[in-house]
Amino acid sequence: MSSDRYPFQEIEAKWQRIWDERQQFRAVEDPARPKFYCLEMFPYPSGRIHMGHVRVYAIGDLLARFKRMRGFNVLHPMGWDAFGLPAENAAIEHGVHPAIWTYENIDNMRSQLKKMGISYDWSREVTTCDPAYYKWEQLVFIKMLERGLAYRRRSTVNWCPSCQTVLANEQVENGRCWRCDSEVIPKEIDGWFFKITAYADELLEWCDRLPGWPERVITMQRNWIGRSEGAEFDLPVVGRPELNVRVFTTRPDTVFGMTYAVLAPEHPLVDQLVTDEAERRAVADFRAEVARETEIDRLAADRPKHGLRLRAKVVNSFNGAEIPLFIADYVLMGYGTGAIMAVPGEDQRDWEFASQYGLPIIETVQRPAGFIGEAYSGDGIKVNSGFLDGLTVAEAKRKAIDWLVGRGLGVAKVNYRLRDWGISRQRYWGAPIPVLYCEKDGLVPEAEENLPVVLPRDVQLSGKGGSPLAEVASFVNARCPKCGGKARRETDTMDTFVESSWYFLRYCSPTYDRGMFERGAAEYWMPVDQYIGGIEHAVLHLLYARFYTKVLRDLGMVKVDEPFTALLSQGMVIKDGAKMSKSKGNVVDPDDLIRTLGADTARLFSLFAAPPEKDLDWNDHGVEGASRFLNRVWRFVIAHMGEALAPPQSPPSALRPTTEAGKAFRRTVHETIAKATQDIERDFHFNTAISAVMELVNALYAFEATSHDGMPAGERAALLREAVETTLLLLGPIAPHVSEELWSQLGHAESLFTRPWPAADPAALVRQEVTLVVQVDGKVRSRLNISVGTPEERIQRLALADERVQPWVRERAVERVVVVANRLVNIVTRA
Ligand SMILES: [Zn+2]
Ligand SMILES: [Zn+2]
Repeated sequence: MSSDRYPFQEIEAKWQRIWDERQQFRAVEDPARPKFYCLEMFPYPSGRIHMGHVRVYAIGDLLARFKRMRGFNVLHPMGWDAFGLPAENAAIEHGVHPAIWTYENIDNMRSQLKKMGISYDWSREVTTCDPAYYKWEQLVFIKMLERGLAYRRRSTVNWCPSCQTVLANEQVENGRCWRCDSEVIPKEIDGWFFKITAYADELLEWCDRLPGWPERVITMQRNWIGRSEGAEFDLPVVGRPELNVRVFTTRPDTVFGMTYAVLAPEHPLVDQLVTDEAERRAVADFRAEVARETEIDRLAADRPKHGLRLRAKVVNSFNGAEIPLFIADYVLMGYGTGAIMAVPGEDQRDWEFASQYGLPIIETVQRPAGFIGEAYSGDGIKVNSGFLDGLTVAEAKRKAIDWLVGRGLGVAKVNYRLRDWGISRQRYWGAPIPVLYCEKDGLVPEAEENLPVVLPRDVQLSGKGGSPLAEVASFVNARCPKCGGKARRETDTMDTFVESSWYFLRYCSPTYDRGMFERGAAEYWMPVDQYIGGIEHAVLHLLYARFYTKVLRDLGMVKVDEPFTALLSQGMVIKDGAKMSKSKGNVVDPDDLIRTLGADTARLFSLFAAPPEKDLDWNDHGVEGASRFLNRVWRFVIAHMGEALAPPQSPPSALRPTTEAGKAFRRTVHETIAKATQDIERDFHFNTAISAVMELVNALYAFEATSHDGMPAGERAALLREAVETTLLLLGPIAPHVSEELWSQLGHAESLFTRPWPAADPAALVRQEVTLVVQVDGKVRSRLNISVGTPEERIQRLALADERVQPWVRERAVERVVVVANRLVNIVTRA
């Protein structure tokens, strides 16, 4: 079996070596040429590449090689998202230093990636745990601190007791840690934040200006930012003229349906409202209960809500009604004012709470017929709403706000779901936050000339307690850069999402040592023209990178508003119905596959088995099929290397077949070019592009196996040559090694990847039509318009099926059908 296979191991090693020696994929800024920055999300160096990596890098490499052949100056770099938790966990478990573990993993993965033959410019490799890298984000941190874009405050965080670290909201999945699946608990902690909320509006506006992004991702970003317009106003507390409950609502039109109000349990006003000891204890108990719930739980729509009715009441200013006041878990301090007016008729969560606690429900919007049993949030005419009756929801919103503003009770207000980005991690393996706490000056940023603040090497990692850096005396005890006195260094490190928020900029000038990046290089290459990565990064990484880019722009460092012009989010690689994972035992090791069938087969399969945005279902038959196809291409070219594929006398563009069979074959070749080009460039339908090339190879075999009487020998050879070269050019970005080898064997001294992508010849695409006379037993019964070169068997079928021929053949047995090329079909029946 394997002896049938082309020598892929030898070929792949050979071309990887030659491409490397030629520095063929080295990118150099050239203002005279259009650039194309093609980027796959860089990996975390876990130690081994998996099939998900193979898939995303195969997609990226296809596009990078394709764009080079389309005449672009392509930047296609690779690097390592090298800080993070697994290195630290490995250190705790196995006693190996995170730096050693990380760099060994990088070496492994680099050599694995090199075996895939991806066209990276390895001279631009970037590793984020290198002080020469993180130095620059420390500098930007200081600039952000100066501008109030980085700040420190106490906050309640999601805490993973097992990982001993703060988790972002989006790292909490169903109340559990995304990494270790432990239950997440709330914790009060001082930490550093980036003020991403200052960019909420701009981030949202630009969602409409990224047509190259998948709609799904844009929608997730919009929802994450969660802009809502509404009103903020006061509910006076009964009998306490000095106290008001400030509420935010997106539905000021529903104020007449307000039957109670709710404060977040953590709301500072609660302590002022509570007067006696019994109520104080009840509140404390309730708060303790809520503290055990995660924020995600509290926001979940499908679970019972918990509340505690306070003795205090508030007044609905719109109708003067005194209404009950609660504290409840479904209202959060971090959103809006931390207090709501409850309108159970039009808000489902209020409806559920009101039903649970037996509170009145007033409908203030006319419901569609038959709508019962839940809150109605749709449009309609206002009812039960005093001076708002008869208005639409939109009209009533405006009028209610005018009423509030007119009486000085409230204002129109925009709110966001987006919170500031908590970047503090109580971990070792991350970039140190470059600030100090001086006994005299308080918080002081490190002086620019002292950067980088290097992560110390000698540290004890136990996995217990707070930040490991706090235990390193030589790190913690420092001098104040302002007064020279004693100061203590910040021991938190930065979230690794900070490093991945700008690595694409560092690739533009990876060794530049006078700044984050060289301005001219960044201006030439940015923005990234095509970014490729998993949907799991739809919110976190992509939003942070967009924010950070805008900050750098406002610091005068870059000109672009957005980092990524187009985004392709590839699906997962699954096997037997589940994502490949060690725990499920369904992992296919890319190394094994590359060793047994070759990198080209691995790449071809992962590009062919599914469109990129869909999940790829692994199956061994498909892999075997990909291998068979490449062998089929190989055998054809090798078998006909001599005379049949002799180099053409004249360039292929001058190729004008004289025979119909020749014209038809050439049309197939050029139709394949047109289809493959469109599928790749416009639609990212790499799988259908590959199908078209497979059909072309079938046509190649069929053409070669037919004698083609009357076709000049030179025409036949030239057509075959053109078809084979086209096949290799189209296949090049998909299976580069075998294509390059066969290309070279055809006698080309230059790399296939220096050739332009083939262009479909319009002259070859023209379908000439002829009219055939159809006779039945010698009498003309119909006429057929068909394309020149239509196979005889198809002409026979068309003639017999013709509606004017049918009456003459239906009742009789057809003896034979004679086709005279381009003239006549004669049907002979047995009378
Ligand atoms: Zn955890
Ligand atoms: Zn000082």
